[in-house]
Amino acid sequence: MIVREDSFRHKGLRQRLVQELQKKGITHPRVLEAIGRVPRHLFIDPSFSGFAYQDKAFPIGAGQTISQPYTVALQSQLLEVQPGEKILEVGTGSGYQAAVLVAMGAKLFSIERQKELYDRTASLLPKLGFLLRQYWGDGYQGLPDVAPFDKIIVTAGAPYVPKELLTQLKVGGLMVIPVGENRQVMTRIRRLSDIDFEKEAFGDCAFVPMLNGIEKK
Ligand code: SAH
Repeated sequence: MIVREDSFRHKGLRQRLVQELQKKGITHPRVLEAIGRVPRHLFIDPSFSGFAYQDKAFPIGAGQTISQPYTVALQSQLLEVQPGEKILEVGTGSGYQAAVLVAMGAKLFSIERQKELYDRTASLLPKLGFLLRQYWGDGYQGLPDVAPFDKIIVTAGAPYVPKELLTQLKVGGLMVIPVGENRQVMTRIRRLSDIDFEKEAFGDCAFVPMLNGIEKK
């Protein structure tokens, strides 16, 4: 894969995107700094790269989309990432959300069910300098051998909150997950104890669905 360049023009467009996200209510300094640093145009098809710094979702192939920058920023802000935290991401997709979390200092583990997308990001992210552990697998199962996690972020629309993921969250940890079928409610779950969880809602959103099992292409 050819790694394309990050020009002054791209950097300028990124700073404008950061200002737009601030206007839309993103306040966390490290989220804004990470969005300002990650070259989003390198995560999407070159034919869309002129639009990379608009606050929009785009197709990334394999019937999937790269999330809208506002959604990435909102989920990252709700996750309250602290440097060094062990974080699980379900739905690597383009790898953009993963790069933002790594830029914020997360020790990231990311799962993708589609082989084609897994292969692409496994090659792209290290080339761009974003280091994390990537897995081709089913996010409904989480990563029992690596758990527990400080934080869990799900970036596909989950019809329900998977129980396996709840059990892999540390007490005191947070999970941010869009819950619902066609449209979802952005939901944050805090694990209060072994058996108690607190839920908060942060508005409607629309994600591609979280699907069962793996896909070999
Ligand atoms: N975080 C991504 C968002 C991609 S869209 C980004 O920044 O681009 C959601 C992704 O979740 C898709 O790539 C889809 O294939 C993946 N996905 C859906 N169900 C999944 C599951 N059960 N396990 C792992 N990945 C899943």
